[in-house]
Amino acid sequence: MGTLVSISPTTGAEVGRWTSHTEDDLSTAVQQASEAADQWRFSSWDIRAALLHAVSHELSSRRVTLANLMVDEMGKPISEALSEIDKCAVAAEFFGEHAEGFLADRPVETSASRSWVAHEPLGVILAVMPWNFPFWQVVRFAAPALAAGNAALLKHAPSVTGCALAAQELFRAAAASVGAPEALFTTLLIDESDVAEATTRIIDHPSVAAITLTGSERAGMSVAAAAAHALKKSVLELGGSDPFIVLGDADVPAAARAAVKSRFLNGGQSCLAAKRFIVAESVADEFTEIFARLTSELIVGDPHDPATQIGPVARISQAEALQQQVDTSIAAGAVAVVGGRPLVPGSAFFQPTILTDVTPEMAVFKEETFGPIAAVVRASDDEHAVRLADTTVYGLGASVWSTNVDRALAVGRRINSGALFVNAVVASDPRVPFGGTRRSGYGRELSVEGIREFTNVRTFWVD
Ligand code: NDP
Repeated sequence: MGTLVSISPTTGAEVGRWTSHTEDDLSTAVQQASEAADQWRFSSWDIRAALLHAVSHELSSRRVTLANLMVDEMGKPISEALSEIDKCAVAAEFFGEHAEGFLADRPVETSASRSWVAHEPLGVILAVMPWNFPFWQVVRFAAPALAAGNAALLKHAPSVTGCALAAQELFRAAAASVGAPEALFTTLLIDESDVAEATTRIIDHPSVAAITLTGSERAGMSVAAAAAHALKKSVLELGGSDPFIVLGDADVPAAARAAVKSRFLNGGQSCLAAKRFIVAESVADEFTEIFARLTSELIVGDPHDPATQIGPVARISQAEALQQQVDTSIAAGAVAVVGGRPLVPGSAFFQPTILTDVTPEMAVFKEETFGPIAAVVRASDDEHAVRLADTTVYGLGASVWSTNVDRALAVGRRINSGALFVNAVVASDPRVPFGGTRRSGYGRELSVEGIREFTNVRTFWVD
């Protein structure tokens, strides 16, 4: 039996230590989830809405505790941690309110006396989730899954096990408060040494219907292969290296302010953060000057301090990987106009960094940079901007800035991505679907498309 440990990236101190579940524990958890799903699949829309409302209430009433747990376990600044819990509460309410409409029977005109399409629950859904948004990733999956009549199993990143158990506690408290089965939500404790084998065993279990994963390509390939082997559906939300394109006629100060927000939120550890800033030659100096000034003003420090804007990255090894991406890019000709090093050598605090003179061959352009590093590239015209933006294996989001919306849309439409935001920062919102193309994954989360991913689209025909 292994151990799961969470360590504060701020202090290096141990936050918690848990023993992983045994094979028997995991099998019992799947069985109980399956029984809960069997009961829940025929639940009324009213009780599903009540459950989601209760989840929202539990999130709000535990807001400060949950936010501090994230700060302790992965170093998210407290102001952002509180916002994350608020966003979770809004999403839970959203699916409580809209699930019935999203999944309502759709009558179809045929030669039958009556025919319609229904969306029925699949059963038990396994979610494999990462540490970067410890509660949002969970609620983004679980709120629609439960609202659609499914049960949820969570295999979270071991470094945020305190958050994973707190999520189980709050979902179960919500279930108890409305008389729903508590086993509708279960956190599975699986340590890293056994992750691929244990996850595959769960995926193979006949009671598990489908899998959703958010994380790296490596994890996505492993879990999707196991799902394919078991002939089960999977949804993958993987990495991204989103382009942020500033055209020559953009409102440059507004774009630069948005660039700071998009790149440095959550210490840059977000799949949908803008990572490559592709700027028209004519405004590149002005944009870079403002972007660099605002970035150097960011307050880096103790994530428990409400004034802090950037905390540590989640692990020291991650800071080391960032350093390598920066160093190899500088060796290839990039210039660090801000930052470029850890704040304190050997720590998880990495300086907010802007590299200019970046080319598509450099690591900070080619690879996903999962931390506070921005790569600035100059584009000679709109055509060049499109080519640069699409020189990536990813396809999550894209942001285009121009005072001419038609021009921005014309540029944006030619980029391969799951979302296009014009004069706005790419963000997830329960009202619109979220997901990627190419190596950013497949399937959609949130909105009507997200809730339908884990339903059986069933045809009814009555002669
Ligand atoms: P991982 O993809 O390894 O972790 C995400 C989740 O997947 C964790 O719960 C992890 O568990 C699990 N996992 C990993 N391998 C397997 C497997 N074979 N079978 C089942 N579950 C598995 O991300 P890392 O934390 O290692 O981060 C590495 C990089 O991934 C980042 O630098 C970033 O580029 C990308 N990433 C992208 C995210 C996104 O939001 N799209 C989020 C996090 C990371 P365990 O930790 O036990 O291995």
